[in-house]
Amino acid sequence: MAERLDGTVALVTGASSGIGYATALELASAGARVAVAARRRDRLDELAGRIGTEALVLETDVTSQHEAEAAVEQTVAHFGRLDTVVANAGVMLLGPVVDAPVDEWDRMVDLNLKGLLYTAHAALPHLLSAAESEPRRVADLVLVSSVAGRVARNGSGVYNLTKHGVGAFGEALRQEVTKRHVRVSLVEPGAVDTELSSHVRQEVREQSMQRFAGVERLEAEDIADAIAYIVTRHRRVAVNEVLIRPTEQEG
Ligand code: NDP
Repeated sequence: MAERLDGTVALVTGASSGIGYATALELASAGARVAVAARRRDRLDELAGRIGTEALVLETDVTSQHEAEAAVEQTVAHFGRLDTVVANAGVMLLGPVVDAPVDEWDRMVDLNLKGLLYTAHAALPHLLSAAESEPRRVADLVLVSSVAGRVARNGSGVYNLTKHGVGAFGEALRQEVTKRHVRVSLVEPGAVDTELSSHVRQEVREQSMQRFAGVERLEAEDIADAIAYIVTRHRRVAVNEVLIRPTEQEG
């Protein structure tokens, strides 16, 4: 049964659009006070307006270790604690490996791996502390991976690399902290209707998106719902991994 998150604090990275935006709203409606981080301040302000006076806006580039740490520290300074972190910020720049623009690889590694690592590293001491205290005596680090973290595909090599890395890191960290009641969970969405694919180069986009032609995609709220399910379980229940595809998505 779902528990309320009243008295707890959540930080969502990549909250200015898509899955992060929907997750911030969902966690707020479950009772958490929510800090929202991303680079586009106007989007975060609009989201905070929907959440209400309790929301904390953090204009943050998580690829900077300093900024990721500052986002965590400002959340704790403002709200006094940190119980739930959704490390969601990510970018998907698909395309063949041969002749790839290497700056796209840098952007994916910097955000999907290093940004997530910086966020987790800064948050963990606070999550460990929250897990020892009321009201819930459990804390959550949710890592947003992808079906691409399970299945590698021609044309998705470096995105696959980053998301497989998230899964490996998450499982190792889960084993490290689970006895201390910090739950590390992996969420692996299939195709979700967000801005994610808009960053793919035009010449690659049409081809790579063909496999989703006619497929009814998930909505960001579907993933937010799954994340809310994970973090509202009783402290004895750790949902380690959730793979969610659109019903019509085959692979
Ligand atoms: P969006 O592009 O809508 O959201 C990405 C978010 O990441 C935005 O809020 C963006 O905000 C933020 N972001 C980008 N760069 C940075 C940065 N340097 N620092 C902080 N925040 C940053 O896509 P989704 O909501 O779909 O993606 C969210 C996660 O879900 C990603 O990790 C993605 O890999 C994963 N995913 C998505 C799937 C899909 O089909 N949509 C499928 C599987 C996984 P801003 O630009 O304002 O910084």
